[in-house]
Amino acid sequence: MPKIILEDVTKRWGNFYAVEHLNLVIEDNAFITLLGPSGCGKTTTLRMIAGLETPTSGKITIGDTVVFDSTMGINIPPNKRKVGFLFQNYALWPNMTVYQNIAFGLSNIKELMPVISFEALCANQIKNIVADWQKVIDITLESFDKNGVINKDKLYLRLIDTYIISMQTAKRIASYSFEKTPTPEVLAKTVADEMQAIIEKERAVASKKGYTLNEKFEYVDKDGKVLEKVRKLSKEEIDLAVRRVSRIVKIGMFMKRYPAELSGGQQQRVAIARTLAPEPSVLFMDEPLSNLDAKLRLEMRSELQRLHLDTGSTFVYVTHDQMEAMTLATSICLIDNGVLQQYDAPLTVYNRPNNTFVADFVGNPSINFAEAYGEQQGDKINVKIWGEDMVFTPNSPIDIAKWQQDDHDYDRELEEQRANMLLDKHNVEKSNKDVKFKCHIAKVDESEIEEDKQITDNDFIIGIRPEAVKITPNGKITGEVYSAMPTGMETTVRIKIGEFLITGVIFGGITYALGEKVNIEFDSDGIMLFSQNSGRFITTGTLK
Ligand code: ATP
Repeated sequence: MPKIILEDVTKRWGNFYAVEHLNLVIEDNAFITLLGPSGCGKTTTLRMIAGLETPTSGKITIGDTVVFDSTMGINIPPNKRKVGFLFQNYALWPNMTVYQNIAFGLSNIKELMPVISFEALCANQIKNIVADWQKVIDITLESFDKNGVINKDKLYLRLIDTYIISMQTAKRIASYSFEKTPTPEVLAKTVADEMQAIIEKERAVASKKGYTLNEKFEYVDKDGKVLEKVRKLSKEEIDLAVRRVSRIVKIGMFMKRYPAELSGGQQQRVAIARTLAPEPSVLFMDEPLSNLDAKLRLEMRSELQRLHLDTGSTFVYVTHDQMEAMTLATSICLIDNGVLQQYDAPLTVYNRPNNTFVADFVGNPSINFAEAYGEQQGDKINVKIWGEDMVFTPNSPIDIAKWQQDDHDYDRELEEQRANMLLDKHNVEKSNKDVKFKCHIAKVDESEIEEDKQITDNDFIIGIRPEAVKITPNGKITGEVYSAMPTGMETTVRIKIGEFLITGVIFGGITYALGEKVNIEFDSDGIMLFSQNSGRFITTGTLK
């Protein structure tokens, strides 16, 4: 499966930048989610990779093929990129059965494909299956209904699901009626010999034309090269593809139904099967679960995860739901205002966010932010938070003054780069300017307007995840319970410290009285330190 590379990809409409200088490498077989607030450019990014939107500039490579290059004038159309799409509105054809819905796209495919002896392939499948005739009998016996009659549809489905075979092959296996014969081993031998004869005959046919058959029963020439021909899929190949994907999404039993006879979740699964049937090497999904109810969404999420494993395809998934992104992805690509904020594994994004925007965007309940003022002394940073003196100890040694210097230099470089870029007449200034993210410091009374203050290198932002807040008699910080919401498994408590509010998540269903005095401490070495000036992440540590 291919790796996808985006190099300096920009999409703008006039001077509105939907995606700005995006560089991204999507590894082979990855499951990445494009995450970010509404309008940040997720869908545009996905559509550009898929070929549904033309970038203003940049280069996109899928596998070995450059599918877009603005400087070379390359732009390969979507149907030639071998990608599949699954969108929120997955409209199935209402006048077609589930089977027809999945098979329809396959019957229209006409492309360069290996020439296969399907006869030999199926004969070989049958030969292998009957070798274990006892298993065939067991499956057959499980398909009897309560009146002792074989339920043929059930039997075919079970054979298809067990052996991943086409309906035709399943019918053929069933027709031998192994369960009725007193000498199944003799029957199995006769069938195997028959099948071997078919394989030999097919080999002879190929040989006459100057080819041999390889282990997949493809035609191979003398140099070992597989013979390819522009052709359509045979009826049996289509059936095999339909059965294969239906098995993955567990809709084999609905094949004869019409979409109106299915629930929303089942329809969604049909849509997924339809997308998977042509074996796309990359599958693009744009909020495919947003029409489903919460329970079904959860169920489908875990099925998508399985699907990713079973198909081995690369999945690119758009969502604005951070939970979905966290739970599904191998990597999250978090975008804001067309600019990539972080591209990392979900837990890295959660535990080491690049900046306060990322820290705020992931996590539910949200991270607690607090302003901190102080300076480094030795390996500690003495800070004042909520009017109290505290000590932040970084997990590994860091020179804060040096860090601040580098951070200012980096800002200056960005500024220069931007100014230089604008000297080129092809570039236009971004009208949707990037504004610095202002983190929300929760207070009891948020009506008072904050005056703009001069931010210095001694001003920091501390980020505390709710699970790091611990209520304990030993806690040195005192507060009072502002609200408490037990869900059974955990309790979300908001605690008032002076005029500020912080949120904690305590494991277990504990009841707190509102107004109750509590002592707290921060039980984690994952407390985050950010620069208040740039909002960038400095380090993690403990806070006492
Ligand atoms: P959502 O989560 O709401 O779907 P998104 O992150 O997928 O948002 P995009 O659809 O990629 O956002 O849009 C990015 C920005 O580009 C939006 O501000 C949108 O209004 C703008 N945009 C999209 N298509 C066009 C267009 N054809 N012309 C002008 N602006 C557009």
